[in-house]
Amino acid sequence: MIVVRRVDELRAVIRAARVRGERIAFVPTMGALHDGHLALMQRARKDGECVVVSLFVNPAQFTEAVDLDGYPRDEARDVRLLESVGVHVLFAPAVDEVYPGGFATTVEVAELSVPLEGVARGPQHFRGVATVVTKLLNMVQPDAAFFGQKDAQQALIIQRLVRDLDLPVRIEICPTVREADGLAMSSRNALLDSAARQKAVTLWKALSAVEHAVARGETHTAIALAAGSILLKAEGIEPEYFAAVDAATLLPVTSFTGTTLIAIAARVGGVRLIDNVLIHREGAA
Ligand code: AMP
Repeated sequence: MIVVRRVDELRAVIRAARVRGERIAFVPTMGALHDGHLALMQRARKDGECVVVSLFVNPAQFTEAVDLDGYPRDEARDVRLLESVGVHVLFAPAVDEVYPGGFATTVEVAELSVPLEGVARGPQHFRGVATVVTKLLNMVQPDAAFFGQKDAQQALIIQRLVRDLDLPVRIEICPTVREADGLAMSSRNALLDSAARQKAVTLWKALSAVEHAVARGETHTAIALAAGSILLKAEGIEPEYFAAVDAATLLPVTSFTGTTLIAIAARVGGVRLIDNVLIHREGAA
């Protein structure tokens, strides 16, 4: 695996791969890699002869300095994992390579950035995400880029900005990879102590309770969500949001029609976790 830190080096490596006729498949990450990330890379390998991964903890998308400072980082371990799944190029730039002095341009996706994480983390969060992803896509210029359903709102925003700005890349959203008990894999899980780790699975249990309610025939989102809220309350977890929204617009819905996103965010043991499930109910009125 080639490790590059500068955009000009990255472009030279990618130009050489293009000359060899290789397709470029790209997976952006913030490091502290886990099996959810590695699944994206394995997917990328099926699509491109040259798999490029970026590792960049993007300061622009963090609302709180403590969150940014406490974000888990271990590049040496990440490099070993990337090599184990056959990644070809790691792009790991310093902050000033991505945001040089005088940096003044941002990308903002209206409407989709407003609810859920937009409320909880403020407008700068998705502005930071959209700006850095646009930059990374321009730096790498891949044929395809792979993102996780785990960050459902982020995935929608990226699909929208690629469409709106005519970026010549195919975006693929890959399923959420979970621990054996159902907890969604996340770099932040490393920050949970053992009591919080046990408690954290309640987010998944609450989402599953909604799925089960729908499977039993429940059509009202409020009633299905209430089944999950009971479990959260029993564990003393107060979610920042636990909501049923239209999977395409993120607007709240009162009944299950078409595809509904059930999204949750909560702090468990001081660690902020998010998760979601999609519920399909075709033909429902
Ligand atoms: P991050 O390093 O948290 O920015 O995540 C990098 C990419 O991995 C994003 O597209 C995430 O949505 C994706 N990702 C993170 N956790 C998971 C997971 N448990 N399953 C699938 N994809 C994930």
